[in-house]
Amino acid sequence: MAADVPDCGTPHYRSIASIVTNAEIALIFDHVADLLEYQGSNVFRVRAYRNASRLVQGIVEPLATIRDASDRSFQDFDGIGKDLAQKLETLLDSGQLPMLKQLEEEVPQVVFDLMRVPGLGPKKVKLLMAAIELESLDDLERACQEGKVSLLKGFGKKTESTILSNIAFAKNPDNSRLLWNEADQIVHLLIEWMKECQAVQQVEAAGSWRRGKETVGDIDLLVESHQPSDVMNHFVAWEHADHVMVRGDTKTSIRGPRGIQVDMRVVEKKSFGAAWQYFTGSKEHNIRLRSRAKRLGLSINEYGVSQLDQSGEKIVAGQSEKEVYKAVGLEWIPPELRENHGEFELAENDQIPKLITLQDIRGDLHMHTTATDGEATLLEMVTAAIDRGLRYIAITDHSKRVTMARGLDATRLFEQWEAIDRLNESLASEEGIPLVILKGIEVDILEKGGLDLSDEVLSHADWVVASLHYGQQQSQEQITGRLLDAVCNPYVSCIGHPTGRLINRRPPYKVDLQRVINAAADHVTCLEINANPWRLDLDDRFAAAAKEAGVKLAISTDAHSTAGLDVMRCGILQARRAGLEAKDVVNTRPLQELRNVLQKT
Ligand SMILES: [Zn+2]
Ligand SMILES: [Zn+2]
Repeated sequence: MAADVPDCGTPHYRSIASIVTNAEIALIFDHVADLLEYQGSNVFRVRAYRNASRLVQGIVEPLATIRDASDRSFQDFDGIGKDLAQKLETLLDSGQLPMLKQLEEEVPQVVFDLMRVPGLGPKKVKLLMAAIELESLDDLERACQEGKVSLLKGFGKKTESTILSNIAFAKNPDNSRLLWNEADQIVHLLIEWMKECQAVQQVEAAGSWRRGKETVGDIDLLVESHQPSDVMNHFVAWEHADHVMVRGDTKTSIRGPRGIQVDMRVVEKKSFGAAWQYFTGSKEHNIRLRSRAKRLGLSINEYGVSQLDQSGEKIVAGQSEKEVYKAVGLEWIPPELRENHGEFELAENDQIPKLITLQDIRGDLHMHTTATDGEATLLEMVTAAIDRGLRYIAITDHSKRVTMARGLDATRLFEQWEAIDRLNESLASEEGIPLVILKGIEVDILEKGGLDLSDEVLSHADWVVASLHYGQQQSQEQITGRLLDAVCNPYVSCIGHPTGRLINRRPPYKVDLQRVINAAADHVTCLEINANPWRLDLDDRFAAAAKEAGVKLAISTDAHSTAGLDVMRCGILQARRAGLEAKDVVNTRPLQELRNVLQKT
């Protein structure tokens, strides 16, 4: 493996010079929690760091921006108290947390490495460390291959092979790319910075960020200007630039936060559209576009579309993307579809779908409150939903199986529903507030099959999300069977995060999703696109397959805090990449229509 390729899934915190993104801060808190737990620290202390991590993860706006605004404070966010606010200040100012520094001195490096393997939590790492002499991840890999791990109490053959494949997952450099929303925060800060430069006429970002991919490898910026050298000077002076990699007349590259490479190119107005198209990609899309141009006697590159005639080469399009596509006989293709997955055929026939937008969303059908593991109360979630212009929300706290989150049994659930009834009544009496709260639950799909609450209880709900949180290591047959049972249950409205994957952290469980999709179509059960940037589950491929099969999708935030409601836009991007339109997504419908769609009988 090349020396500059990180050997593992998540980054090393030891080398961080400056901290910018919220996800990075969240990871640090999570990391501290892991290490404290490893040391056998007080559970409340561990939990405080875990909660801090989740809170920060849920905030879409960069915390760095909030710190820099004189009239704002971290404590404006629900759940952020004085102590956490102070930690955030320290992190943003110094890139370090005294607690983490101390832990780094106390805990051996190999523990940091082991904990980056999906499924290896503090407890398992502690057992492994006590039983086997481990100095690196490679040592653990070898121990698994030699069958030593399966001999340990509480591990077994199956766990051993899972660890082995998860080490491979953690070592795959693809799993160390930035999550889209983390890259988005960097893009946002960069664009703000570049706009401060007088010489900049126009600035846009391209690449996989613009295509809305789940993860982003590097950032491409495009600037229109007549004074490239002024633009370059301004660019390299960015406070978050770690160092300048290459500086040229029209292109400069820097290493930014989290080691991400940022390439900035300066182009002329007449080429801006062509360059934007070119650097947005994808590679496969552009190859196809070039060969199409060639067939038409044209050539296409980052400067424009040109035609070769007797007088030489003549540029026929380039200022806007629309022009570029038009020159090759196509309608404009939204960036999220540019993967050469059938978009050319659609564009040739003027059949590019009218992709769903954030404005189409009327409701949010998956969120938690303080009744289980959410940070905000029912009322706070409702107020936040009203602020965001939502017309309806479903409160879907965990059911009792999720003991870690103090999941609800029937009694506590009915209490919550009574509170919802009362709140709905008072909302209805207030003029101009059109929000309705649906009585919901995220009911667990049990390891042994079946659901965590009886059909009798579920029959009183307005909206039931069924999710699988436990027994994720079971065989494909078992897991598929559990999901199929849930899909067929007449009271289940939707399957939550259908594959259970966490991007960069945990591979999906083994499931025959096509069977689940077909059953969902037969039983009018929705499938979720969970908008949490770590999940984005279903992914674009399966969401497209679900649409194809006639399944309705729900794009839900799974918010655990009021700020968590803002990740809806990440789910929208995933849906757009799947080619979904507003009509494919149930929570774009007015409430009455939603209720009609859900009539199962
Ligand atoms: Zn869940
Ligand atoms: Zn949930």
